[in-house]
Amino acid sequence: MEVFRYSQARTVDAAVRSGGTSGTSFIAGGTTLVDLMKLNVLTPRAVVDINGLPLDRVEALPGGGLRIGAMVRNSDLANHANVRQQYAVLSEALLSGASPQLRNMATTGGNLLQKTRCYYYRDTNYACNKRQPGSGCAAQDGYNRIHAVLGGSEHCVATHPSDMAVAMMALEATVHVQGPKGERAIALDEFYLVPGNTPNRENVLAPGELITHVTLPAPAGGARSHYLKLRDRAQYEFALASAAVVVTMSGSRMQRARIAFGGVGTKPWRSREAEKVLEGQEATAENFQRAADAAMAGAKPLKYNGFKIELAKRALIRTLEQTTQTA
Ligand code: SF4
Repeated sequence: MEVFRYSQARTVDAAVRSGGTSGTSFIAGGTTLVDLMKLNVLTPRAVVDINGLPLDRVEALPGGGLRIGAMVRNSDLANHANVRQQYAVLSEALLSGASPQLRNMATTGGNLLQKTRCYYYRDTNYACNKRQPGSGCAAQDGYNRIHAVLGGSEHCVATHPSDMAVAMMALEATVHVQGPKGERAIALDEFYLVPGNTPNRENVLAPGELITHVTLPAPAGGARSHYLKLRDRAQYEFALASAAVVVTMSGSRMQRARIAFGGVGTKPWRSREAEKVLEGQEATAENFQRAADAAMAGAKPLKYNGFKIELAKRALIRTLEQTTQTA
């Protein structure tokens, strides 16, 4: 019988060396991995504990912007003065997620890699291409109320569960990784993959690559931002639809707009369609509605989740109202 191995890494180089072995997972806060190991959904042969890595700082970058270590806890990031003042959308998204206890454990890197809440993925009695490629997708003809209306395929329609990543998408974050072949930086918009016919591949990380930090660009002068999350209950629940908005105003016009959705896409969903409609336009109800319609034009409802399309539109409209009206 194979013995399960646990080890601790003190340096990124050591973590990458250990993490490159087949069947090995990194473990940080453990708020996803441990749950899924208990459910037999994830069955690594070894885990490398990265809690000792020196990646737990939030630092201002010389030219503006922020560098967020992968081990920064969600609660620390949400309450960091710089984040609260300059990146409100990120602080709000983090505080809307999970519970205080979980936020105290969950890390920035781990949050980006959260697994879907699709109940069929988490129950090994059901077919799931993400858990077991080629086995089928129980959600297609099942109870698919929480599933995606954007980015799905016949092989998977699971949503990405992170709030933080939605805000980071609107903030145009960059993910920095280190792996067996060295370091690289990946725009967050290019980090996640839609399921296609390989839903088991959720992002572009190569085997053994470790997220070391995330950078945020300096906020545009006068930028305002906001995150709104709509869900079945007020706390400790995942989004049915959420919207992240970052807007720079010029008088009553929206000079620049960055828009992302949660709860409706198979990945944190940036909407360039909505941004295009909004930029250069007056902040009016008509333009907000046009942007919402454009954002959801490609949505494909399943049997039980058609309500998400209207919900996401209303989330965006409400968030735009709040953001553009901020003094
Ligand atoms: Fe699995 Fe995706 Fe289908 Fe859910 S939607 S059962 S995660 S393949």
